[in-house]
Amino acid sequence: MILFGMNENLKRNLAIGGTTLVALYLLYGIFSGDGSAEVIDSTNTVKFICSETGRVFPIELTKDTPGFPLENPKTGNNTLWPAEMCYWDECGPKGGTAVLMNTFKDEKEPTHCPVCGHLVRFRNPKPPNYGSNK
Ligand SMILES: [Zn+2]
Repeated sequence: MILFGMNENLKRNLAIGGTTLVALYLLYGIFSGDGSAEVIDSTNTVKFICSETGRVFPIELTKDTPGFPLENPKTGNNTLWPAEMCYWDECGPKGGTAVLMNTFKDEKEPTHCPVCGHLVRFRNPKPPNYGSNK
């Protein structure tokens, strides 16, 4: 009985945590100038990546957008997570690679880009020389 109660509390805390994550992500996009351009473009869309299919969906966020994961419009499953963009090595000239963070797969290991192998983190930085040869 006590254990059951704890599990319910844990579930509630996890649900609240997910909502907080959405709110923080939105605040980052709205209030940080640097780095937000490639994630949130002029139409306020954010690239989401499907944890099942790997497909990328640009989604416009509003105050009514539910918590992560969002529903994949193709499959109807709640599998869309905000993608981090990798612009390192060969990913840069290709316009960036959308990467699903290990955090969203419940994996503790650091996330590496599946294309170039570079370490990817939240608010993933671009290479220092990115765009200098355009
Ligand atoms: Zn990469």
